[in-house]
Order: sequence, then C-alpha cells, then structure tokens
Amino acid sequence: MLYPQKSAISHWKLILTTNPAPSTRPFHHLQRHGALYCGKVSLETLARRYGTPLYVYSADQIAERLQLFQQAFAGRDHLVCYAVKANSALAILKLMADRGAGFDIVSGGELERVLAAAPEAVDRVVFSGVGKTAAEMDRALEAGILEFNVESEAELELLAARARRLKRKARFALRVNPDVFAETHPYISTGLREHKFGIDIRQALRIYQSAAGNRWLQAHGVSVHIGSQIRSADPFGAAMERVSKLVRQLSSAGMALKAVDAGGGLGIDYHGGSFDPAAKVREYAAAVQGALEGFEGTLLLEPGRFVVAQAGALVARVLQVKRNGKKTFVVTDAAMNDLIRPALYQAHHEIVPVKLRTGRPRVVDVVGPVCESGDFFARDRKLPPIEPGDLVALLDAGAYGMAQSSNYNTRMRPAEVLVEGAKSRLIRRRETMADLLAPELLAKPG
Ligand SMILES: *Cc1c(COP(=O)(O)O)cnc(C)c1O
Repeated sequence: MLYPQKSAISHWKLILTTNPAPSTRPFHHLQRHGALYCGKVSLETLARRYGTPLYVYSADQIAERLQLFQQAFAGRDHLVCYAVKANSALAILKLMADRGAGFDIVSGGELERVLAAAPEAVDRVVFSGVGKTAAEMDRALEAGILEFNVESEAELELLAARARRLKRKARFALRVNPDVFAETHPYISTGLREHKFGIDIRQALRIYQSAAGNRWLQAHGVSVHIGSQIRSADPFGAAMERVSKLVRQLSSAGMALKAVDAGGGLGIDYHGGSFDPAAKVREYAAAVQGALEGFEGTLLLEPGRFVVAQAGALVARVLQVKRNGKKTFVVTDAAMNDLIRPALYQAHHEIVPVKLRTGRPRVVDVVGPVCESGDFFARDRKLPPIEPGDLVALLDAGAYGMAQSSNYNTRMRPAEVLVEGAKSRLIRRRETMADLLAPELLAKPG
C-alpha cells in the first residue's frame, strides 16, 4: 500500500491511480515507483540536480490551458492576453507568444519582460494598472503596444500629453468599474465602486465623448476586470452585460469601439477536487460571449492564474519534524518568501510527499523557517508520514508564487525548471548571495 486508505485528501488516490492529461493534473505519482512526477520527469531527480526550494512548471499544461481559451473563443475575433503578473518567467512568456498569445501588463517592468522574451508580440500588449508613470507611458507608446487600459480621467490626460509629445497616437480603453460583486478573497476583488480600480461605468460615456476631440487619443476599446480566483461564471456575465450596454451607447453616439477587454480572474480548484478545466472555460466563454452578442470587434481576454497555476509546484525539502506541546511541525526549506499565498490570502495548497511512505497519516502544520508565525503552508493538515530529508511538493503554485516571492530574511529566491514532455530545463538559476548584495552600498571608511 503506497498511500493511506483513509485519507482526508482523497484526490491523492486520484493522482495515484490515474495518469491524467496535463490539463487536469501534470503532477502525479507513478504507482510503479510511488514517486511524484511532472509529466515524465521525476521531481526527486530535479531536486537533486537543481536543489530546493525549486519551482517546477509543466510547459505542456500551460500550452494546453492557453489553447482551452483560444478554442472556446474560436468562433469570434479574439486575442488572449496572458496576465504577466501571474508568472512572469521569460521562458513562459516566450512559450505563450509562440502560441499566439498577447500580454496584459501592469508595469513598465513587465513591458521590458515582454520585449526581452518576445519583442514580436509587443503589438499584442495591453497595459493595465492604476498608476502608470509618464516614463512607462512613453516606453509603451514608443514600443507600439495595442492598448492602454486607462483607470482615471487624470491618467487619460497624462496619456494624451505624452502622446502629443512623442507624436504617437495612443489607443486607449477605459477600464470601467461595473459595480459587480464577485465572491473571492477581499484582497483580490476589484469590481466594486468602493475599490481603487477603474472608472465608474456611469461616467464612462462622458469621458469617451470628451476624449473624442483629442487628435492624440483613439478610443480603441473598453475594459473590465472584476477580480481574481472567481469560481462562478455569473459575475463575468453580469459585468459584461453592463459593458455591453455601454458599447451600444457609444456606438449610437458615433463611437464604435474596436475591442472589448473582458479581463481575467477565472479561478481554479486549489483543493484537488474533481475539476474539468475545459468545461470551466466553456462555461466562462458562454457567459462572456452571451452578454456581448452583436459586438463585432475583437474580444480581449486576460487570464493569468487559470493558465499557469496548476502547471506549477514548489518542491521543498523537509528540514525538521518537531513537536511543540500537542502540535507537530514539519519545517521545510521553502518559506513564505518563496510562496506567500497562504500567509497573504489564507490560501490553501495541497501538499504531497514526493516519495510516499507507508504508515498512518498525522495531523501536522507545514511551516517555513522565516521568523514570522504567518510563515506557514498548512495548518492542522492530515498528511502521510513525513521524515526529515523527505521532499514535499506544494501543488498549484504556478501562479502568484514565484511572481510574489521576495528576499525576506535574506533568503535567495528559488530556481525554476520548465518540463516539456520528457525534457526539463532550468529557466532561472537559483539566486546567489552576490545577486542579493549587488545593489547595496557601504560607505567607504575615511
Ligand atoms: C491580475 C489581473 C489579471 C489576471 O487575473 P487572474 O486572476 O490571474 O486571471 C487580468 N487583468 C488585470 C487587469 C489584472 O490586474
């Protein structure tokens, strides 16, 4: 028996007994070895070769997830603009660009990443974010991005001024706030009037009208993004209904838009339940497209998490197993600086041993070495026996994992590996102490 029969984490059996397509679970135990694999590559081998903590991504699943969106919207003019902030590894951006994706960026830094990884895709870039600087606008105008998603009237004025200076017409969309509630963590909900994002949808018509006289501005589209990790398709449909009404009003007023940007935000299942990603994307597509009937222009989509989250795992080595009073703590060499989602959003990540041991499951906390009680990956979690020196994988860590990592506690960021079929390659080396110290200045004595 390789795994506990009476386990709270029933999906183990699922990953043990099936060999799923990348779209459901790229990480699976091979029964023959009782060891965790990403595609055809053993995580134990990768951990030995590159050390831990280590992020491992399945290129096959990323490609498949992207394709789910492209297929679900194939019936109409559309462009999937992958949200770079979810995972901004250059190799992943290149993979997306090669498959026809564009990009949703939220900073000048992300624009530089796109230019470094796939300069040919720059005309497929939309620039979102509540606070773009003049320098960021200039760089994006010169690079020739597709569209600026503008979040305030003041920002639109600044964009017009920069465009006039550079003599480059700026294509813009107003990011409207549709005042739609989406059930998710409050930190990642963005579509209510009380949030800092977007422009009150009731003000939008007036602002488009006032921009119409400016020869450096082109009203290219309208955009909306109501939040992240939204599991139901309904709020997307509700937001799109409101956007669609605005598009019709604009059209009647003689301002036909070329693009509607539906944003990102489609959520995944972090609990390892049965989850059909293709059906989920189809349901989402039906909600969005249903609300947009009659609009002939391009539909832009900005998925981030849905494309990369389940393609990634964070592999860590167990340093200690210690008991304090009634509690057992499994201390790993990965910490909140490597994956902050549990600490920041009380997020759940499934944790599985890379090599399964026999024996009774135990209730443990899985924690990192950082000096914060918030540095935990799981609390009171029933896990199979784990010993010091074992490897564990934190699943579904491909989105907002490495992208939100830091050097807190002067910890070097993990290395990253991309697995494609039976091949794996390092896409980011582990940071060194020299990398961390390089920007710092010590006053010279005397
Ligand atoms: C974060 C973000 C996205 C992506 O959100 P996901 O939940 O990762 O799909 C898309 N668009 C905008 C404007 C964003 O800020």
